[in-house]
This record gives sequence, C-alpha cells and structure tokens, in this order.
Amino acid sequence: MEDTLYPKIFEPLNLGYTTLKNRVIMGSMHTGLEESRNGFVKMAVFYKERAAGEVGLIVTGGIAPNRAGRIGPFSAKLSSKNEAMHHRLITKAVEEEGGKICLQILHSGRYGYHPFTVAPSAVKAPITPFKPGALSEKGIKKTISDFVRCAQLAREAGYHGVEIMGSEGYLINQFLVTKTNKRTDEWGGNYENRMRFPLAIVKGIREAVGNDFILIFRLSMLDLVEDGSNWEEVVQLAKSLEEAGVTIINTGIGWHEARIPTIATLVPRGGFSWVTAKMKKELTIPLVATNRINTPEIAEAILESGQADLISMARPLLADSDWVVKAKNRESHLINTCIACNQACLDHVFERKTASCLVNPRACRETEMNFMPANNKKKVLIVGGGPAGMSAALYAAMKGHAVTLHEASSKLGGQFNLARRIPGKEEFQETIRYFTNQLEKYQVEIKLNSCIDAETIVQSNADEVLIATGVTPRIPEIKGINHPAVTTYSAVITGERKVGSSIAILGAGGIGMDVATLLSHPSMAIEEVAGSHYFQEWGIDKEFKERGGVRQPNPSIHDKKIYLLQRSTGKIGSGLGKTTVWAHRRALQLKGVETMTGVTYHEINDEGLVLTFRGKKQVLAVDTIILCTGQLSSNRLALQLQALGRPFSVIGGARNAEKIDAKRAIVEAAKWAENT
Ligand code: SF4
Repeated sequence: MEDTLYPKIFEPLNLGYTTLKNRVIMGSMHTGLEESRNGFVKMAVFYKERAAGEVGLIVTGGIAPNRAGRIGPFSAKLSSKNEAMHHRLITKAVEEEGGKICLQILHSGRYGYHPFTVAPSAVKAPITPFKPGALSEKGIKKTISDFVRCAQLAREAGYHGVEIMGSEGYLINQFLVTKTNKRTDEWGGNYENRMRFPLAIVKGIREAVGNDFILIFRLSMLDLVEDGSNWEEVVQLAKSLEEAGVTIINTGIGWHEARIPTIATLVPRGGFSWVTAKMKKELTIPLVATNRINTPEIAEAILESGQADLISMARPLLADSDWVVKAKNRESHLINTCIACNQACLDHVFERKTASCLVNPRACRETEMNFMPANNKKKVLIVGGGPAGMSAALYAAMKGHAVTLHEASSKLGGQFNLARRIPGKEEFQETIRYFTNQLEKYQVEIKLNSCIDAETIVQSNADEVLIATGVTPRIPEIKGINHPAVTTYSAVITGERKVGSSIAILGAGGIGMDVATLLSHPSMAIEEVAGSHYFQEWGIDKEFKERGGVRQPNPSIHDKKIYLLQRSTGKIGSGLGKTTVWAHRRALQLKGVETMTGVTYHEINDEGLVLTFRGKKQVLAVDTIILCTGQLSSNRLALQLQALGRPFSVIGGARNAEKIDAKRAIVEAAKWAENT
C-alpha cells in the first residue's frame, strides 16, 4: 500500500482458505458484558464497532469450555447449542461489517474463583483461596473433549475460528510445568507427557472443525515465574503445535501470579516483542506480538523489523474502536491512545464490574452513550481545561453544541500535566494530545490564560455553564506547617521546588506514591529509565538462561532517603486499582523507600518532622516535607455563581474532591454531555 504511512500494518495476510485484511488483531479481553443482563446484545454492538473500525481479526474474551473451567461462579461458558445461539448475535454483527472474529476458549484451571476448580494436581494458586481438585485421567479426557465441543459450537455459531488460551498461568500452563503438574501418569513427568494435554486439544479441534477454520494458540513464551518453562521447552511445544495444525501462534507473557508487571504503563512500549522475534526463527506459521503495543508507529516498527507477522492489541481497541481506520487515514494524531492505566478495564473486571476505559467512557457503553447530534444546539461555556473540562467540551461539541473552554493556565491537561511527569506514566501526554487535537477538529473555542469570573459568566449569552475547575491540594493542620521545609506535591512534580536528600512524603495514596516514584528514580531522562532499566529492575532474564525467564531484580540506585508516611494503618495506596497497586508498592520497596503507616504527626520544626510511630515519639530528621494529604474542591467560582443565582452544572473534583480521579471526572463529563 503506497498511500499509507504504515505499509506493514495494512498488508493483507493470506491464511490459505481466508485472508485477513490487515495485521491488527483485537486481543482477547474479558469485559464483564459476557455475564451482564442483555450482555450479548451489548457485546454485539461493542464488537460491531471494532469490526467497522477495520480490525483485521477480533478475538472475544475468554469463554470456558465447561463449568469447572469458568473463571468465576457465573462466568460465561460455551458447552451447549442453547449457549451457542446467543453468540450468533455477535458473529452476525461482525459479519455485517465485513469483519472476522474468533472465540477464545479459556479454561481457568486452578485460577478459577469458585470451589469447583480442577487442575493437573491439587496445588493451590497464590492468587485464589480455592484449592483445585486433581483431574482424574477420565477427567482430563473429558476436558479435552469439552475444548473440542466448544470449538465445534463456536463454528456453528458463526465464528471464523478459535483461540486456545495456553498462557497467563491458566489450565494449559498448569499442565506444562512441574510446579503445578505433579502427576506420575502419562500427563505428567517428562516434557513429552506434560505437553500432551495442549497437543491433544489442538489435534482434537483440528480434526473436528476441518482445515478451513482459524486456530490460534496463545503460547506462554515467557512465564515469568520460578520453575516456569525453559526456552527449549517453549520451542518444542511451538513446533509440535505447528505440526498439529495451529494456524497462528499468539504470544503470552507472564502468568497472572508473576510478580512482574507486564502490561502496566511502566512497561516500555512494545517491551516484549523480542520474545516473539526469538520464536520467529523457529516456526513458519504467522506469529503475533503482544503487550504494550498502542501506537501505529510501534506496531509498524515491530512488523517492519520482522519480529512478528501480526500485532495484537486489546486495551488500545477499547480506548479507540477506530484505531485501525485512523491509522489508515493518516489520522493517528486523533487516536485515543490507551495509557495502560488498567483503571477502568482490568480493575473493573477484577472487581466484577463491567469494563470500560478511562480515556473512552463509551467503551462497553455503546448502547447507552452515543453523543448524537442534539436537536437544540446550545452555546456552552466550560471553565477548566483538565480531564473533566476537556472531555466535556469534546463530547458537547460532538453533539453539535458551540463550546467555549476557559483554562486559567497556559495549557490544557490539568492534573494530567503532573501525571505525565511521573516515570512510568508518560503516556498521559497522549491523552492531552488526543483531546487537544479533537477539540480543534470539533472547533471548540479554547481560551487559555483565561481567569473568567462569575460576573462575566452571568453576563455571557451561554445557554449552559459547566464548572470543571478541579481540585487544590489540602493543607493539613500540623504545628509548623508553614516551615520552609514544607512544600506541595505539585511544586515538586513540576520541578518548581527542588528537594533535599532526606524527604518525608505525607500521605501514601496515589499522589504520594507517584511522588515517591519520581524521587526514587536515579537522575536521568525519564524515557531512559522507563525503557532500558525495566528488565533489570524487575528481574526479567532477556537471555532466557533461567527457567521462566526470571532472575533477581536489580533496581537502579538513587541517592536519597525517602519516607512515605500515612496516618491510617492500612497498606499504602489502598484506594488504587488492584491490578497495578502491587507493582507500585513493590517498585518502591525495591528502591528502598521506607513506608511508615499509622503515624501521628505532631510538629514540623528545624530538626525535621516530629511524629509518633508504633507508639514511639521521634523526630524524623528530614530536610524536605512534601504534602500529599488529599485535595479540596476548587469550587470558588461555583459558589459565586450560586450566590448570583446563575444556573450551572459542576463535575469532577470541583463537585466532590473525595477520591477523585480522572476516570470519575471523565465519566461525569460524558454523562453531563450526553444529557445536554
Ligand atoms: Fe487503556 Fe486505561 Fe482505557 Fe484500560 S482504562 S483501555 S488501560 S486507557
């Protein structure tokens, strides 16, 4: 394709009996719609939009082949014709858009969160409370036939193929390694025996569905757990899978129980394509690269360098259903880039809520939130150019309203301008870029350095006024709080205030942890830290000398003494998302940040910070004290408008500062715009 910036992405892939129109696969991701009311109707619209956005091949969220394989007690399974009937809604919707879709078959094994789990051996996983029952030989054969039956039903339901989930530590992985497979029969012991299970599944499916059906195997190429597979075993399995009739091999990175983040923002973009490239030399069938691929540039580079034949992205297509079509039309500056925060997708799934997306609140709400053109076009005045104000302005403009956005500072972005400075959170810059470009496209009038006052708003001819003025740091009442050693988090993050060599961070919520992350990095360019040091810091063995590809973490050294303190006795970062908070805690621990919880602050003076910790009053001899002690609504303008009797709406932190984050701010903005 000569007219595209990304010729490799848009090169069709001929699979013999069918052709994929480009090299983008929407990777499997459970959304929670699978189990929700009218879930199949909603999923049909969800996938239809992605197919219309020209994704080459979609893979559904994981569906269990039988009851025992379900991830939760009421999770979706496909083992009957009646269940298959519901799937027709999805396949028909995708077909209408000329798309292709495979069903992922996922048996959770010991990762299931219910009491009926099964596994090769009765070895409990560290991430669930349930000990699995060991499968009998009959049980293994029945499980294999359930996989086969599931694939047959998928074919009957109109899917173009299936993906077998053979990675992330689920049942198939559990058969492959000795730490979870203690069997002494033909399904355990040597590697030939341990890989018998996945091979029997693949052979059985191929025989049952014929040759003109896509069969993807998601192969765990890097387990990232001790006693995981070694590279020779992974290659042996891959070659046997190819021989057994697999069409495409997808890359799996890390078991869920691995203590190494593999998809969080701190993972470098395309950080694991080297694993796929290593396998590329061994096979002839197409290979898929995965994990932290979120821009057309990085996707094209991976394909161009021959590291992989296809790119799989799940979250980036949640963030923007038109990712592919925008890349094709030279509009990649308008792509709503996934920032790998996990806050509205995986964290929701983990909490058994329907997934969505922090930067795209329409994700999984396609049937209820559409920003359709309004019948009554209005003049809308919005104050505040942070996440809430920017998104409200965009969604209102998409409905055809004439929007003016006032921002007091010299740039849009609000708190995202702080977040993007934290090592490992640089992606927030992409969200600012997205909204800025979209606001321009939808002709929102942006007034920077504009401290509009209440009187001016009252005198304006705006039909709707929205206050999205965000938050200001909360200053706690501690004796000596005005001491020169004390500063706010924003002054430190922006670099306005230099810190000393011994630092106390007051408040260990999200902002406190971010500040600790920033200060505990060695002084070097943020990009350098995020890229080259990631593997060393987290103990990833790129040479694959060790089983599972793990070795001792070797964090980079900084030269400061950092204390992270909080009044409450719980764990630090307790309000943060479960899928990433553990990694932040571990990173700070590895870097020697000392956490103290349950402290009482008494005074700040020339000696430092006087506090009580574990019943002992002491002085923490620090030269810098950073306040991360919560936030207050920045609502002065709202109160003035109220006093003047001018009707207005208020969203985000300006409405309620408690536990405010960008996710809530943007959802409130979207809901306000949808109803305006
Ligand atoms: Fe990506 Fe965050 Fe959206 Fe999930 S919530 S899709 S990680 S931007």
